[in-house]
Amino acid sequence: MLTACGLCWLCRMPLALPQWGICSRCASTLFARALVCPQCGLPAQHEHLPCGRCLQKPPPWQRLIAVSDYIPPLSTLIHRFKFSGKAELAPALARLLLLASFQRRQPRPDRLISVPLWQKRHWRRGFNQSDLLCRPLARWLGCEYEADAVTRVRATATQHQLSARMRKHNLKNAFQLEIPVRGLHIVVVDDVVTTGSTVAEIVRLLKRGGAATVQVWCLCRTL
Ligand SMILES: [Zn+2]
Ligand SMILES: [Zn+2]
Repeated sequence: MLTACGLCWLCRMPLALPQWGICSRCASTLFARALVCPQCGLPAQHEHLPCGRCLQKPPPWQRLIAVSDYIPPLSTLIHRFKFSGKAELAPALARLLLLASFQRRQPRPDRLISVPLWQKRHWRRGFNQSDLLCRPLARWLGCEYEADAVTRVRATATQHQLSARMRKHNLKNAFQLEIPVRGLHIVVVDDVVTTGSTVAEIVRLLKRGGAATVQVWCLCRTL
């Protein structure tokens, strides 16, 4: 059983700064990964050019930054974070997102946006993982964040049981923008991005609202 009392969540060595949650050595191993496309975040030939998939059918966001693929030990930590009620892992995971954005030399965004959960799912879990990542991240970056800037206006079927076309239909008009975003540089934060259809729907909403640029930052990017 992992503990958070001043020990690294992964190697259990004492931490120089307990609030970091994951030691520098473990953090650096999490970042080791193959070349990825800057736009979709999936494995690619170049690090600085969009991949063939993105040239053909670009995603609605400008850039996707991920810490790693959905592989252990990060996938194990995320599973604990989401399903074992280990909300105290949030700052350690949010710090990985911060380091990933520093590594890619990204300018500070104006505002962070979390992916809202449908209320029943939120009550069952007791927290929204995307919201818990945004809170410390916004503080460290010094940018705006409110949990309910985007709200879910209707329930949607669980995405992973649906085909790509059904997913898009399922998400249509599922979200509502509650704040002005015109001219702002925005980052949408999520824990894991797989097909990306949920974040894509939120990004399209932000762009319709006039956002200048929208990036997606996530812990894991996988298909
Ligand atoms: Zn460690
Ligand atoms: Zn791509």
